[in-house]
Amino acid sequence: MQHFPVFLDLAQAHVVIGGGGEMALAKLRLLLKTEAKITVCAPDILPEIRALCPQVTLVQRPVLACDLGNARLVYATTGNMGEDARIARLGRAAGALVNIVDNLQESDFITPAIVDRDPVVVAIGTEGAAPVLARKIKAQLEDSLPPSLGVLARIGKSFRKMAEALPQGPRRRAFWAEYYDAKGPRALHAHGEGGVARALDELLARHLCAPVAQGHVDFVSAGPGDPELMTLKARKLLDRADVVIHDRLVTPEILELARREAVIISVGKEGFGPSTAQDAIHALMLTHARRGAHVVRLKGGDASVFGRLDEETAALDGAGIPWQVVPGVTAASSAAASIGQSLTSRGRNHALRLVTAHDMHGFADQDWQGLAAQGAVTALYMGKRAARFVQGRLLMHGAAADMPVTLVENASRAGQRVVGATLATLPQSAARLDGPAVILLGLAPRQGQQALSLQEVAQ
Ligand code: SAH
Repeated sequence: MQHFPVFLDLAQAHVVIGGGGEMALAKLRLLLKTEAKITVCAPDILPEIRALCPQVTLVQRPVLACDLGNARLVYATTGNMGEDARIARLGRAAGALVNIVDNLQESDFITPAIVDRDPVVVAIGTEGAAPVLARKIKAQLEDSLPPSLGVLARIGKSFRKMAEALPQGPRRRAFWAEYYDAKGPRALHAHGEGGVARALDELLARHLCAPVAQGHVDFVSAGPGDPELMTLKARKLLDRADVVIHDRLVTPEILELARREAVIISVGKEGFGPSTAQDAIHALMLTHARRGAHVVRLKGGDASVFGRLDEETAALDGAGIPWQVVPGVTAASSAAASIGQSLTSRGRNHALRLVTAHDMHGFADQDWQGLAAQGAVTALYMGKRAARFVQGRLLMHGAAADMPVTLVENASRAGQRVVGATLATLPQSAARLDGPAVILLGLAPRQGQQALSLQEVAQ
């Protein structure tokens, strides 16, 4: 992000526009929504701009240094490179931020496209990369934000002090959510602005009497990494959470979706890291839920697959704290999708095994005979370090050395790699990977599907 979005207070601030043509008019339309004191300097000024006098001060000559006293913003809109550069120099010398229209490189700031539901204002910027896209997003937002939003926000703003009678946190948020989602729009529709003020009074009285909400924990599956592979429910809960406790495997793009005010806590554990952290995770969930918080325990892939879910739900049951589980896409599903293969197939395998290479005692024991059988398909989690052990056990139980094996690293994330191998080359292939990887035993990438060979992954 090169340009940092901020909302600048222009009440009584001085803004100078150099140029009196169409470009100046376009900027004026936006600036007139503020309470800035605006001066337009140009030898030629469009009649539409003249008509704005006395709201706008007009100076019928080029910008001079004496026009820029206290200027906060200066727009150079003449379209003449030399003249715009001169205005920019004068503006900077006066300590103002300068925008040269259609010249991103030479400007200190850019003016975003806006959707105006004052006091709610949405600004859309693409760093100059895609004005068409900005317009499209603007059109979508114009459709989805009802015009009444501005009125509701204005009345809501004047009620903020009163609402402080509710403690900050979930209770106050619940009050505002009910106002914006239900009570406010209904009252405005039925009784106009006066009705909204009455509705706010009633709503506050009700929320003040309401018993303190009990905290709860949602075990939310984040999927393998691509935010688009999350469920709608997961997105919704993440957007409401007060506290998000997440694993190492959850990607930054997904954490971005959490509510801005949410407390985000990483409890990342490396595969072979200390296991005592589990108690600390339980303690964290209990502490926050007991304070009434909505806790999202965010787990990579599907929360119920090798995620120690039972231990965590047992801890909550012990403390009488309610919880629910939101399922999601597990790494094996994402890996199979990436090679265009089905995890089960009529006539090939009637069973699918999800297997961890490790248990509490080290390398996990399995039904090796079953895994080694012709046509068997197994998704091996946490299998990189155990690759040689698994290979040995499978060969010992009669698996063919040329059994197809596919390793999928960083499934669905940036840096996804698919390595086509066989049981014979499994350990060498696994040794080359350093991200999280799922090993599909018994599956080869579909014909024509891109996959790296052992040699290629070595490079
Ligand atoms: N609950 C998770 C699994 C947690 S165990 C799920 O359902 O996917 C951690 C292991 O999952 C990793 O060691 C790796 O084997 C696998 N894994 C998780 N995310 C992955 C990804 N994006 N790509 C490949 N493997 C992944």
